[in-house]
Amino acid sequence: MNIRTFCMLGWVLSFLLSCQRSSPDPIIPDYTDATRYYQEGEVEVIQQYDDNQIFVVFVADGYTRATLRKDGGIYRSTAIQHIEYLFGQAPFSQFRDHFNVSIIYAASTDSSTAFNYGDQPSSQMDGEKLARYVEAATGIEGFSEQVQVLFAVRRPVNGFGGNKTAYFPADQPDIMLHEVGHSFGNLGDEYQYGQGAPLELLADPGTRGVNSNLDITDDPEQVKWKRYFGLSGYEDVGIFEGGFYSDTGVWRPTQTSVMRETRDDGLSHGFNAVGREAIVREIYRLEGKSLSFEAFLEIDQVNVE
Ligand SMILES: [Zn+2]
Repeated sequence: MNIRTFCMLGWVLSFLLSCQRSSPDPIIPDYTDATRYYQEGEVEVIQQYDDNQIFVVFVADGYTRATLRKDGGIYRSTAIQHIEYLFGQAPFSQFRDHFNVSIIYAASTDSSTAFNYGDQPSSQMDGEKLARYVEAATGIEGFSEQVQVLFAVRRPVNGFGGNKTAYFPADQPDIMLHEVGHSFGNLGDEYQYGQGAPLELLADPGTRGVNSNLDITDDPEQVKWKRYFGLSGYEDVGIFEGGFYSDTGVWRPTQTSVMRETRDDGLSHGFNAVGREAIVREIYRLEGKSLSFEAFLEIDQVNVE
């Protein structure tokens, strides 16, 4: 190495060092800086409703610590997008002020692996950790019927909904809505693909109205949603064959709904009347109140005008 090259290297080195000194951002961000980053397990309350104890908590997996920036981080913007989407849809839009809503921040070491229901949990999130975080956010121990968890996963996954947990790919809020239909409203799938699940599962509506949007009879005197027939504003409610994964032998109340098909254009088919009723009934049940069909129709009036 001649002296000239050496000097050049020294100049380049000092230039780089001076750049580093004058840069406003450190090369390695300090993720422990709580003024700039949400911390692991931190809870942000979005809205509080003191009169009862129904919660919606958002948590995500596959998001690195860098995404937990307070100023414009995508973890928070993803959470807000999904929360707003949920409370933009009837009947949640009508009952928004009945819910405590919060975001739980949880960082993953990378975005390629994620918690999978049914699989071995990854190092990112597991059921025990999720339960601990949800308890911290709600003050309620374990998984409770009072707590609807919105679990967004930052990679393509099949949605899953049950026991007040909706699990969905983070860029598909309409899939989230569908899974909330399962997990909050106990609604069944209104879609079909050939041979379905055992139909006897549908025979018993159960004490909590499980699968109130599906039936194995097409008798208008018998079908679960018969009370809607002939009502003004509910002309779309009928008896449509296909649902619960079967082409035949199962009937659903409307041609389409979010329980039959989701959209990826930011819009939604929304819940049909039977789905809206199931969700309103669940809100009332959790609040310890009873709801007559007539009272529901009054609540639902704004959706059919
Ligand atoms: Zn489904």
